[in-house]
Amino acid sequence: GLAYEQVLAIRREQLRHLGLTFYREPLLMYRGHRQWLWAADGSRFLDFFGGIVTVSVGHSHPRVLEAMRRQTETLAHTTSIYMTSAVHQYVQRLSRLFPQPLSVVFLVNSGSEANDLAMLLARVHTGNFDLITLRGGYHGGVSSTMGLTSIGSWKFNVAHGFGCHATMCPDVYRGPWGGSHCRDSPIQALRQCTCPPGGCEAGDRYVEDLRDVLQCSVSKHLAAIIAEPIQGVGGVVQYPRGFLQAASELVRERGGLYISDEVQTGFGRLGSHYWGFQAHGVTPDIVTMAKGIGNGFPMAAVVTTPEVAESFSEALHFNTFGGNPVAGAVGTAVLDVIEDEGLQMNSECLGKRMMEGLAVLRDQYEIVGDVRGKGLMIGMEMVRDKGRREPLVMAEVNEIWEDCRQMGLLVGKGGLYNQTFRITPPMCITEADVDFALSVFHVALHRHSVRKGTA
Ligand code: PMP
Repeated sequence: GLAYEQVLAIRREQLRHLGLTFYREPLLMYRGHRQWLWAADGSRFLDFFGGIVTVSVGHSHPRVLEAMRRQTETLAHTTSIYMTSAVHQYVQRLSRLFPQPLSVVFLVNSGSEANDLAMLLARVHTGNFDLITLRGGYHGGVSSTMGLTSIGSWKFNVAHGFGCHATMCPDVYRGPWGGSHCRDSPIQALRQCTCPPGGCEAGDRYVEDLRDVLQCSVSKHLAAIIAEPIQGVGGVVQYPRGFLQAASELVRERGGLYISDEVQTGFGRLGSHYWGFQAHGVTPDIVTMAKGIGNGFPMAAVVTTPEVAESFSEALHFNTFGGNPVAGAVGTAVLDVIEDEGLQMNSECLGKRMMEGLAVLRDQYEIVGDVRGKGLMIGMEMVRDKGRREPLVMAEVNEIWEDCRQMGLLVGKGGLYNQTFRITPPMCITEADVDFALSVFHVALHRHSVRKGTA
């Protein structure tokens, strides 16, 4: 392969739009195996970001590779004008994972494409135009979905977002209501909700803001509301209990659908549930998925009801690579591995272990403001001090993050101020990996306090 300096030069020139900023010394990756990544210089990393939540069952999983190889050798591509068993078997398997009436599958190639299709389906089906999205949400970077994405740093200064209206992000940590309460957390020790069962004041208040948006910003008719069950790029933000149920009800009253963006939350990652919407107790009309669906193979899907899909018969809809046989074989292998290796349960158990460990760090360090998440979708939000909840300045967050990398642990970052560490490893990690990651965070946080003279 190319030498490090050559790769760097190409990155600087021909790939300049990607930037060089991910780490101070950009990593040249060479190999992946399960939860491990190796750089070209031989250094090994524990991958706790999973290619931005894309590696679901582990890098280069042998069963996924074997399925891919076999299908590639037999028949790699025909387009969906012909039938292939690999694709049809996959569609049957995938649709069985959803409650009725969600049973019709569209296969596409990326999360942005899936959400673009979901917007189109909702608009065609309802005959309405306006869409509701949540501030802090990320739904893709193509022109249409850029309008749904509600994080300024991902928006270009071009005409976009026609008909997309953002309501308040129901963030119980950083938002005005909720404090650290009302979160649907799997850990009793972290659950401090004082609301009566079935009622949550914070949720009601954020729903009030949505009522305002509906009254002030849109017509009486809606196409849909779209939401991630837990915001990913936005910084692992969880909503108050009952919020999505009430919000989707308001939208449905105005003729709109509920779209659940499961690009990061699907396929068992949340541990307690296979799909994020199940944790909110409301069944969507459309579900979009990507990333972990193919464990790194570029594929994505939209699942909806026969009724919604029927509206699409008025015109042709075609996608050259969507639903190719290799994607079918890979997708089926991923579902098999999640089931056979008990990865949903692993996410539940190890996510709990990780969050309990991080909660100890939160109680020990002034700059760890909040620890939250579900299963192996975990956030650790960094603050200047716990009382004021002001985000920790980016340079300091970055130092801790670089330090983790130096110790062999890769994690992500997110949130409006880049203040939240995102922990989303492949679901095949072990207890030893969790304990190693916790020690690395502990050392990095301790070193930070030594630098600041607060140790
Ligand atoms: N939805 C969510 C929740 C995402 O996190 C992402 C990617 N970060 C997307 C949609 C867009 O997916 P893609 O990058 O495959 O277009």
